Amino acid sequence: MGHPSNQKTYIMTTIADRLANAQHRITQAAKFSSRNADEIQLLAVSKTKPNIDIIAAYAAGQRLFGENYVQEGESKVKELKSICPEIQWHFIGPLQSNKTKVVAGLFDWMHTLCRDKIALRLNDQRPDELAPLNVCIQVNISGEKSKSGIVPSELMALANTIEALPKLTLRGLMAIPTATDDKSKHKEEFQRLQHLYLELKAIHPHLDTLSMGMSNDLEQAVAHGSTMVRIGSAIFGERDKSLSA
Ligand SMILES: *Cc1c(COP(=O)(O)O)cnc(C)c1O
Repeated sequence: MGHPSNQKTYIMTTIADRLANAQHRITQAAKFSSRNADEIQLLAVSKTKPNIDIIAAYAAGQRLFGENYVQEGESKVKELKSICPEIQWHFIGPLQSNKTKVVAGLFDWMHTLCRDKIALRLNDQRPDELAPLNVCIQVNISGEKSKSGIVPSELMALANTIEALPKLTLRGLMAIPTATDDKSKHKEEFQRLQHLYLELKAIHPHLDTLSMGMSNDLEQAVAHGSTMVRIGSAIFGERDKSLSA
């Protein structure tokens, strides 16, 4: 532990360096797949991390931040409103129907929509003075029963429901692959999501977002068409496991 101000400088340098590194990985991955790196956005996942870390990333130019927990997200959005006015907030965690109002009122994006009921509530609760809430449908690509996300056979119907709601804008799809070190499994799942996305985009051509890829697999996700990678630990460091779900 050094002098407090030295310590702060150290943290800011580290987060800025890691952000630059994540950006570099995206650029390299895009090049490898002959894609334009500008098509791929970096969403910094700040769950369980303190505001000071978010401010450090913001100071380094980061604008898109993702949060998983309603209560934590609510206080961060409110506390950082005047200090980091340009943040675009993305809700990326599971959402229960009794908590939709917070997300509808404070967030710009919601990545984990997978039920009609939640879509209707978000639409009803989105304040009139705010632009429509941008949403991605979360798809269960692993086939595991316990996983959240809609099953692929119900995807088209949910997309049609969302398209009819004036305060929601459907942007694309999102998925969390099976937690495994088996890279071929991730590849297969990313491929499946990419196919579903292209099928859906053929019917709804305005879709522009494929939210997939995390710290450990962003290269593979970019190779399969990801347009938004959600990076947490590679920017902010490992999370305290007792705090994360
Ligand atoms: C935590 C989380 C991430 C970030 O994961 P890392 O492995 O730390 O990059 C991305 N997406 C979702 C939905 C998450 O919950």
